[in-house]
Amino acid sequence: MDPALGPPEEMAEKRDELTPMMRQYHDLCARYDDALVLFQVGDFYETFCGAAERTARLLEITLTSREDSTGEYPMSGIPIDNAESYIQTLLEAGYRVAVADQVEEPGETAGVVDRAVTRVITPGTLTEDELLASDDNNFVAAVARGDGEPSTPRVGDGSRTGETETLALALLDVSTGDFLATSSRSPAAIADEISRFDPAEAVLGPNAPRDVLPEECMVTPFDATAFDRERAASLLSRYYGHPDALLAEDAEIRVCGALLAYAEYVRGGEHAASAGSDDEAAPVTEPADPDERSRLEYLTHLTRYDPREYLLLDAVALRSLELFEPRAVHGRDDATLVGVLDETASALGGRTLRDWLRRPLLEPDRIESRLDAVEELTGAVQTREELHDHLRDVYDLERLIGRISRERANARDLRSLRATLAVVPEIRERLADADCDRLQRLHDELHPLVDAREAIDEAIVENPPIEITEGDIIADGYDDGLDELRATARDGKQWIEDLEERERERTGIDSLKVGYNSVHGYYIEVTNPNLESVPDDYERRQTLKNSERFVTPELKRREDEIVGAEERADEREYDLFCEVRRDVADEVERVQALANAVATLDAVVALATAAAEYDYCRPEITDTDRRSGLEIDIEGGRHPVVERTQESFVPNDARFDDGRRLAIITGPNMSGKSTYMRQVAQIVLLAQVGSFVPAQSARITPVDRIFTRVGASDDIAGGRSTFMVEMDELATILREADERSLVLLDEVGRGTSTADGLAIARAITEHVHDEVGATTLFATHHHPLTELADDLQAAFPLHFEVEGVDDEVVFHHEVASGAATGSYGIEVATAAGVPETVVERSRELVDGTASAADTTGTARDIDEFERVHTGRDPAAAGSPLPATADGGNDPTDIAAELRALDLGHLTPVEALTELDRLKRMLEE
Ligand code: ADP
Ligand code: MG
Repeated sequence: MDPALGPPEEMAEKRDELTPMMRQYHDLCARYDDALVLFQVGDFYETFCGAAERTARLLEITLTSREDSTGEYPMSGIPIDNAESYIQTLLEAGYRVAVADQVEEPGETAGVVDRAVTRVITPGTLTEDELLASDDNNFVAAVARGDGEPSTPRVGDGSRTGETETLALALLDVSTGDFLATSSRSPAAIADEISRFDPAEAVLGPNAPRDVLPEECMVTPFDATAFDRERAASLLSRYYGHPDALLAEDAEIRVCGALLAYAEYVRGGEHAASAGSDDEAAPVTEPADPDERSRLEYLTHLTRYDPREYLLLDAVALRSLELFEPRAVHGRDDATLVGVLDETASALGGRTLRDWLRRPLLEPDRIESRLDAVEELTGAVQTREELHDHLRDVYDLERLIGRISRERANARDLRSLRATLAVVPEIRERLADADCDRLQRLHDELHPLVDAREAIDEAIVENPPIEITEGDIIADGYDDGLDELRATARDGKQWIEDLEERERERTGIDSLKVGYNSVHGYYIEVTNPNLESVPDDYERRQTLKNSERFVTPELKRREDEIVGAEERADEREYDLFCEVRRDVADEVERVQALANAVATLDAVVALATAAAEYDYCRPEITDTDRRSGLEIDIEGGRHPVVERTQESFVPNDARFDDGRRLAIITGPNMSGKSTYMRQVAQIVLLAQVGSFVPAQSARITPVDRIFTRVGASDDIAGGRSTFMVEMDELATILREADERSLVLLDEVGRGTSTADGLAIARAITEHVHDEVGATTLFATHHHPLTELADDLQAAFPLHFEVEGVDDEVVFHHEVASGAATGSYGIEVATAAGVPETVVERSRELVDGTASAADTTGTARDIDEFERVHTGRDPAAAGSPLPATADGGNDPTDIAAELRALDLGHLTPVEALTELDRLKRMLEE
């Protein structure tokens, strides 16, 4: 047990003797025992005992102590004013943080100030802008198992493995209100959905499997009863009406209800809901407060979806297609699909674009509707640019209205909302003459919400302060009572301002001054030589070296009046502000609908901008009968990411149909095979997003799923390069792919010895061709595998041309039909600057082997060399290798060492070291 969590032992022993404040701390720690409790004491959040020692070290703050009659307790505190950055550090260290605020003004009650946990901050439930990435969602997930009762399968149709009872998944972004649910009978399908949304945290229901979650995902234990069907249903019905109408499975109801309960719980307070809680008196799903204050009004929508509505991308595909993360370990952040396409102007649009990329569509009609909108804006340069400019002025409406609804917004937030509403008419106007349906619909959905805007305008001053309890928020003329209080304060101040003049006249003391200090308030100051002229009604307050300070009863009275009026004005302003905030919060659904329209428009504008800027074309979406194969016909296709990171890019065609389903792509290393395969998949994916694509022209049938298997050598970024992982991924492909899948197999079989690897690669390819029927791109630098293209009916060979010019290799990056003639490994080594002696030696080895094996054809073929030495060719067994001239080390040893080298697992530095060692062996 982490000593920073739960009630401190040294307090627990003597709980009943503790001072009331420390008892409060102890009890809150006990109640929120999976979170680190930050306990407000005045301007600080304090932690005590184990938690204090831990936070002091983590946050690099001073460890002090607090002493009372029961003992001395370690203590450390962080200033509330910039608590967020400290909280971030605690979250990064893996803690949940429970913030216990003072919920009474000190002095309001006789006893100790009451404190309550107002929010629990966890990685998956952040709402603080400072802690969130603006252009990405932040999800918390919940996973629940079905009850085991018979239920209709929703997703898995039996083809996926590990089929069990239903697993349901709910995803919630607490900051924006996005709330999604789905279910499947396949744990693998649930795991895939989870990797799409990449939640930062997950709540698991009773017996729900941990292994559907990525390792780095924080798992939060939560009251098991929250997953109870009846409880979940009753909570859901308070938000969304009858849950049966909305959700398909009991497991979905349970998982959504539990996640909602968790959202209410982290929002603060009322419920005791930690793991294993058997506190029946405080059931999670019933608010302690009868007026339902814990209800999260901004969670207005719960969307159930079926993963089969979207192109399926598992974690491997997301990574190898470079959607959100660069493949290279030190790759530039923008070397990703989203990096290339994200021309969005607002955070709203940024999140929508990411959602589109994460979930490409299948339905041709939906794809075409997005494409129509993109096409129209691609052509309308001026409209597009004006839209972009206006969209830049849009604040994050979703998070704003979320904060407003949770009563966490300040007056500036309301002004930001108002400023956004003010640009809506400008945006809307740009769409007035839109041609396509989609843009016309967006035009209609862009409600400027004039009444809300006017309400804010009337009530809130233009530049309010951040604080909402210290006045200067509400505009003059908005409220009579407030105006009166302000007038009183103003009159009083005017009276004091005039006082100096009046008193100088009355007393004849020209040097008399009226001043103010924060301890004594207003005073009249008279210098020592004039003290005898001081009137009787002056009361002495303070003696200074050269003067005395006085007050008069009238001054005192005026001062009290001013202070009283100002205090009451501040309170009044706060009340009025809360009223306005509540009124605006009532508009939550309309604001969310507006946010949605703005976000969609921004994403469309971004796609149109990228299309125009990078010269993309509109793909033609063909909708073939499910039984006939896919059709992919790309002319002059380019890799959207690679073409941005280098000076020139060679476009290539790709054509697949029923008779051409399996491309066997050969060519030496670095010739462009991987780039080509990925660009085909990315073009298909982009088309299904509704984006234009980097090509001259493209005809594409939507695919259901993209599988990728990238050979060990090419998967350095993933850090998963064991043979086991490779086989695991291949097994998934063989099991789950079908004729509507697009499969990329890049250098498969490299994780093991060449003979095994080639055999496996070949067998897999045959299976994919004969049994699976998926459209497949298979790249290999193992030349012998090209035979496959002759043997399999729907297979065809492609290769990348390279040219050897004076020991140099020229890569044309141009795909051509037919098989490559050689792999040019030695030329690549030369071109890469491997020392001449080593190159020479390699040549000798190759030549020697080739003659020993008595093979014809190119003597430079390294693949041939490998094949011979894997024992597949009996003629080569025990063939003598040429000895070195000086007769040193036995060269067969060196050849054996060379063979044993697994190039797929060497870093360039390791390779050089290895070469150097071999070279020295030769020289000995
Ligand atoms: P292979 O998989 O055959 O080893 P890659 O696809 O990894 O080769 O390509 C190697 C490098 O060649 C890429 O990083 C890229 O810089 C360049 N390249 C690949 N294809 C092209 C192309 N069509 N036009 C220009 N450069 C390319
Ligand atoms: Mg490659």
